[in-house]
Amino acid sequence: MPTVAFITLGCKVNQTETEAMSGLFRHRGYEMVDATEKADVYVINTCSVTHLGERKSRQMVRRAGRLNPDAIVAVTGCFAQLSPAETAAIQGVDVVVGTQNRSHIVDYVEQAREQKLQVQAVSDIMSMREFEEIPLQDSPGRTRAFMKIQDGCDNYCSYCIIPYARGHLRSRSLGGISEETRFLADAGYREIVLTGINLGTYGRETGRHTLVDAVRAVLAEPRIARVRLSSTESLEISAELIELMEQDSRLCPHLHLPLQAGDDAILSAMRRPYTTGDYADLLKRLRSRVSDLAVTTDIIVGFPGESADRFARSLEFASAMQFAKIHVFPYSKRSGTPAASFAGQVGDAEKKCRVADLMQVSEQGSLNFRQRMLGKTLPVLLERIVDGIAEGLTPNYQRVFIAEEIAGLTENQLVQTELVGICDEGLSGRLKK
Ligand code: SF4
Repeated sequence: MPTVAFITLGCKVNQTETEAMSGLFRHRGYEMVDATEKADVYVINTCSVTHLGERKSRQMVRRAGRLNPDAIVAVTGCFAQLSPAETAAIQGVDVVVGTQNRSHIVDYVEQAREQKLQVQAVSDIMSMREFEEIPLQDSPGRTRAFMKIQDGCDNYCSYCIIPYARGHLRSRSLGGISEETRFLADAGYREIVLTGINLGTYGRETGRHTLVDAVRAVLAEPRIARVRLSSTESLEISAELIELMEQDSRLCPHLHLPLQAGDDAILSAMRRPYTTGDYADLLKRLRSRVSDLAVTTDIIVGFPGESADRFARSLEFASAMQFAKIHVFPYSKRSGTPAASFAGQVGDAEKKCRVADLMQVSEQGSLNFRQRMLGKTLPVLLERIVDGIAEGLTPNYQRVFIAEEIAGLTENQLVQTELVGICDEGLSGRLKK
């Protein structure tokens, strides 16, 4: 049986796509092996969101070639899409596929093997208008599944290369969402996480549907106990979505709303179409309607023009927003984006200090949030039971560890759990009888 190994860099969308592509290989008789092992095929799903993501992508491609010089090396994802010639020129690369045509990846690999020729299958992503369905063939896990329902972004934030790698907005059909939901429910999954490059714009290109319709299509399947949204732009949180989250407890009270900066001048330079005031108003509205809501975010530090004063304002605003977690990124210059040539670039040492300062705010916010959860009883979806400890997530994405009276518990079970203590990675819980 031929073997295939995947190496995935970057975001949840890439991980979801890897899952779908690995299903295509399994369906065609390949056995999955770890990426550190010798394999017949290596697929590297690359990332371009930062220069580090790109550097690591190139390293992984070279490493795969070294692990087995006879292997077929297929490179896909954002780096392959943005730099197809550079990708194709890396020693040992046999197949180059961008962010489209992934449903044919096994054919390309076999074509490269049979014809002993490099296959280049990168399309003009800007001309793509249809969402590419990669039907799930099988399902290796069974607790929480990621489902990609949207691709592309038309926002063109001044620092971001992703719209050039992913093209214009494309949404999966409601029929496709319902079908995959049934497939995942049949496989035993209890939770579905909806993902997309700009998830909140689901359906916008046709004007016929919205994200709420997509969520309702999943909720229509009663065997799915939870639906979670991955990263969503704050501007895309509609009144209808808030109402649904308030009324249907199966839609998890957890939103990841990228803030990117807590200073209005920087937000404007980033071409983010909101102010800190808009963002704060949204959080106030959400928190008044949705109980136990966890809000997490992304913030970029060291954006060009971010003076010490502006950063201090950003820090203060982030602290006031009481995020349950902040993903902090040092600004990374992406050539081809407007911000790469902005004046006032910030040095690496200063960016490092700012990352550390903001991480402290993140840790304090996380602690405060967990403290507010103490004493509450929430359903925990158990993901694993190892060494006498059952571990899973609450609807608002807090990791809970249960160490007492776990006999008889099984993975994938939902258990009412009283949150009784704070630990390093989350909360400790006690089963509620
Ligand atoms: S919304 Fe902005 S940051 Fe997000 S993918 Fe689109 S351009 Fe990039």
